[in-house]
Amino acid sequence: MSVPRDNPKLLQAQYRVLSRQIPMMYFILLVNSWALAWTHYSYAPGWLTLTVPVVLTLVCSVRSWVWHQRQSRAIPEPQVIYEALTRTTRMTGFISAGFAVWALSLFRYGGAYEQAHVAFYMGITVIGCIFCLMQLRSAALITAAVVNVVFVGFFASTHITTFVATAVNVVLVTGAMLVILQNHYGDFTRLVNAQAETEKLSDENLRLANQDSLTGLPNRRQFFTALDKALAQAQQTGQRLAVGILDLDGFKPVNDVYGHSVGDRLLVQVGQRLTASMDATMQVARLGGDEFALIFTHVRDNEQLQAFGDSICAELKKPFTLIDVPVQISASLGIATYPDLASSAASVYEYADYALYQSKRNHPGVLSLFCAAHHQQLQRDTLTEQALRRAKLDFEFSVLFQPIVDLHSGRTVAFEALARWASPDLGSVPPSQFIPIAERIGFINRLTLPLLRKALRAAEQWPPEVRLSFNLSAHDCGSQENVQQIIDTILASQFDPAQLDLEITETAVMQDIVQVQRAIGLFRRMGCGVSLDDFGTGYSSLSQLHALALTKLKVDRSFVTGIHENPASYKIVKSLVALSQDMGLDCIIEGVETTDEMNALLSLGCRTVQGYLFSRPMPFAQTLEWLEKNQSPLPS
Ligand code: C2E
Ligand code: MG
Ligand code: MG
Repeated sequence: MSVPRDNPKLLQAQYRVLSRQIPMMYFILLVNSWALAWTHYSYAPGWLTLTVPVVLTLVCSVRSWVWHQRQSRAIPEPQVIYEALTRTTRMTGFISAGFAVWALSLFRYGGAYEQAHVAFYMGITVIGCIFCLMQLRSAALITAAVVNVVFVGFFASTHITTFVATAVNVVLVTGAMLVILQNHYGDFTRLVNAQAETEKLSDENLRLANQDSLTGLPNRRQFFTALDKALAQAQQTGQRLAVGILDLDGFKPVNDVYGHSVGDRLLVQVGQRLTASMDATMQVARLGGDEFALIFTHVRDNEQLQAFGDSICAELKKPFTLIDVPVQISASLGIATYPDLASSAASVYEYADYALYQSKRNHPGVLSLFCAAHHQQLQRDTLTEQALRRAKLDFEFSVLFQPIVDLHSGRTVAFEALARWASPDLGSVPPSQFIPIAERIGFINRLTLPLLRKALRAAEQWPPEVRLSFNLSAHDCGSQENVQQIIDTILASQFDPAQLDLEITETAVMQDIVQVQRAIGLFRRMGCGVSLDDFGTGYSSLSQLHALALTKLKVDRSFVTGIHENPASYKIVKSLVALSQDMGLDCIIEGVETTDEMNALLSLGCRTVQGYLFSRPMPFAQTLEWLEKNQSPLPS
């Protein structure tokens, strides 16, 4: 019968209903009381028909106002509700007793009608009050008990049959009312409990829908909701906000080599390290796969972001203990800020993603902050992407050929095929611009095959000892299907696969070393050579290089520029050449532009070179003239 302390939802529901019903109960009580005071006004003394009703009215009005106010206020804590309901229950006893005694004290004034009015007043008012207190059983019961005891006790003592009958009548009706109240209260409690259960279930569903089940972090959907919220707040407060997107480097090999359960544990630990690095102004979510997202509110300056990004990247470079050997990976991070260059949630996310892409491509394992140069590049990329999607591949794309020269014999040993795009909208677009975009939008495979076909068709017409070198991108080796298409294209041509070198850049190899290893194995099996392009710019380790069945290393031109006057470059090329000799691989030096550079390379024992000093890339027709003319004295 007491107020249900251990059921907060029920307390809240009672509180909500009673805040509407209690003012109504006081209204009934006061209207009925004033009607009784009025009929007794000319018989009873003024303190009974005026003073006492005024005092009772004041008390009731205050209580009614307190409850009325609660309608428009937020629902308080369960403990506060409990105290309010207990107080109300207690006060109900005093107020009922007060009104009952006051009504009975009027009984001896006036005639039979007035006396009947007292009996009617008590009967009708107690029923009205019980009705309004249905959701507060204890109060309803106290009211019924107080009024009935006083009522029955008093009217039985009058020995007037009508009043005794009325008293019995009221007791019976009140008893029936209490039974109904009990049933109603039971239904009310069950309904509230059922609602609470449904709410709990839907909260749980919502939580599951917004949570990544593996790491327990907020998922992609929750991330975008949180981003919208944080951005709206940043707009209001004028604060700077940053979004970071983080992608693990080397996660796929861990998954492939150690299995998915180890991969899963790695993701969980990455999530834990990220969470541990956050403070109250940051949020972390898992977007899917090995991609995580961060939201930073209250960003002070770029230095702060840089320091934070560096610390996260450093944290994730520390070895993870998942199996008996420690597993080491790294993470690339792109961060963009609002409102600097980005003006909306979508753009700040897109820019962070772009910065991540730049980090992954150029400096994996570190933070890249989205800047004005990225913004310009992104706009250019968007135009390029649109033109690329519209392009007529066979018509707009062609290949040029750059000779690869043997310095000892002066002969051209091979040509490297280099793609060219003459776009009707953008003019001539360099491969450094369109290849990365084609890779990003998954278009590269559609480009590779026609270009390879064109290159092979040209190469068929060279003397048999002249090789063809053809560039492949990471995506070309990224799936069995793509590799098979390349193999089919080579086999369908008249060109001898043994005279073909496929170039794969070092950074492409590092993206998915296991799959690239598989692809290289297949190319080698059909007799092709495989060169590691731009060697020295990636982050491959000796053990990783040894695991690949390569035939050549192509030293990146960045080490060759000014080699004759730059001791650091000289030493690097020297060690790269020594490395290739140790590994039994041929070595090609790219980007030779001056005789000084060539002489420096000769002094290092380099033999095979490529560069503007010999020739820029040329169209096919010129390669035939070149071969005729140039089997070939050295430039002096
Ligand atoms: P790469 O494979 O390292 O090709 C050599 C790049 O260096 C070519 O640039 C070439 O024109 C340039 N180069 C050659 N000698 C010199 C020199 O002495 N000085 C200077 N400054 N540059 C020199 P290009 O043609 O602009 O190609 C850029 C990159 O685009 C290539 O680098 C290659 O990674 C990629 N690429 C070109 N064609 C294709 C293709 O058909 N497929 C794929 N996947 N990538 C391609
Ligand atoms: Mg190349
Ligand atoms: Mg290269």
